[in-house]
Amino acid sequence: MSLASASISTLRRQLAAGEITAVDIIDELATAITSRDPQIGAYLSLDLAAARSAAATANLDLPLGGIPIALKDNINAIGQPCTCGSRFLERGYTAPYDATVTSRLRAAGAIPFGRVNLDEFAMGSATENSALQITRNPHDPTRIPGGSSGGSAAAVAADLAIAALGSDTGGSIRQPASHCGIVGLKPSYGRVSRYGLVAFASSLDQIGPLTKSVTDAALILQAIAGHDPHDSTSLDVPVPDYSAELEKGVAGMKLGIPREYFGEGIDPAVRSLVEQAIKRLQAAGAELVDISLPHTEHAVATYYIIAPAEASSNLSRFDGIRYGKRADTPTDLLDLYRRSREEGFGPEVKRRIILGTYVLSSGYYDAYYSRAQKVRTLIRRDFENAFQEVDAILTPVAPTPARKIGEHSADPLHEYLSDIFTLAANLAGNCAISVPCGTVPSESGTNLPVGLQILAPHLAEAKLLRVARAAEL
Ligand code: GLN
Repeated sequence: MSLASASISTLRRQLAAGEITAVDIIDELATAITSRDPQIGAYLSLDLAAARSAAATANLDLPLGGIPIALKDNINAIGQPCTCGSRFLERGYTAPYDATVTSRLRAAGAIPFGRVNLDEFAMGSATENSALQITRNPHDPTRIPGGSSGGSAAAVAADLAIAALGSDTGGSIRQPASHCGIVGLKPSYGRVSRYGLVAFASSLDQIGPLTKSVTDAALILQAIAGHDPHDSTSLDVPVPDYSAELEKGVAGMKLGIPREYFGEGIDPAVRSLVEQAIKRLQAAGAELVDISLPHTEHAVATYYIIAPAEASSNLSRFDGIRYGKRADTPTDLLDLYRRSREEGFGPEVKRRIILGTYVLSSGYYDAYYSRAQKVRTLIRRDFENAFQEVDAILTPVAPTPARKIGEHSADPLHEYLSDIFTLAANLAGNCAISVPCGTVPSESGTNLPVGLQILAPHLAEAKLLRVARAAEL
């Protein structure tokens, strides 16, 4: 097996035994990227010299010593670009500091390695909203890798990265992981610092790992979790040992099956694979419980008010003055703002800013934004009630496998509706993971991966990972 396709745990063993060096891993990845990334389009930039020199001095005694990890291009790493997939930041912005997750990865011995593509400012589900390049699904290059962390998922699935970090505001780690056949974990809100992540919707955003195995997801979460004084929403609570209980299985656990997640609109082949995964967990000793999350049907409408509202506020910092793009020869200050934003942002980002500004405007605030906040509370209560009864909840990640590139980019509403199963976890703040549960054959003869979503209570990542490990094929 090539080093580029190995999991973190395997590489750690080989490094410890002295069979390979950290520089060997970088070299194999570099060769794989040169030969295959032109067909995939996962990487936006790569500083091989910096990665090699970090590898040469890596402390192999640390938990992630010598392991390269790709970063979604909205997570700052000092001295590196951070384009957010946008023309706005494509030129003229270099990260002046490390995000907390980046410095924690370094402290755990990992090597921030390469910057991977995303939907512009993480807005999208296909990575087609990147202003910079198309990323293709490694299982079928005519299809999307999912999004917005599509570069992270495609790089890991194509063995062009050992593991990656992504960000998840409404599903952007879980859905591309599902479409690319890898593991993607969205931690609970407050578990991982958002400091240094370019903000999309601050009350929903979380950073998490995309990996080849559940064991690897636990290792990365261990390194990045925990309180950070730089992010006032990060929680000052102890971080458990996420690897300790991984192998304990699901015997005796109660797993909830929410009927609202298996109804209309879900591809029968996806439903069947998810149901088979559920049966395997039952055979492994879990008790299945029918539950209801009745407000899920309002999750899309709620999210597409709250997320654009927060985005319109967060993205006001891109004004042509402080970061990245500045329009040429402005006639006055207003013209500078207006033209920098007009030229710098792509159509989906503009749509979100307009929607968000509208729902926050006086006269509409009560009708939309404050109402959406109330529905958000109802969605959170659904989960709190369900978790009184069950240890974790099992659902599909996405209603269909990866669609074709370009298939419905003209129809934003259709695209928003495909987020139905993932948004609620962000609105409620609990943790959730996507684990591969099989593949569906496409009409062109390729096999398209499908993910099982597991949801667990707020801060119950240890339990989540344990169920995920039991569900892993
Ligand atoms: N697809 C959702 C959106 O477009 C979620 C994106 C994300 O999680 N960053 O907003």
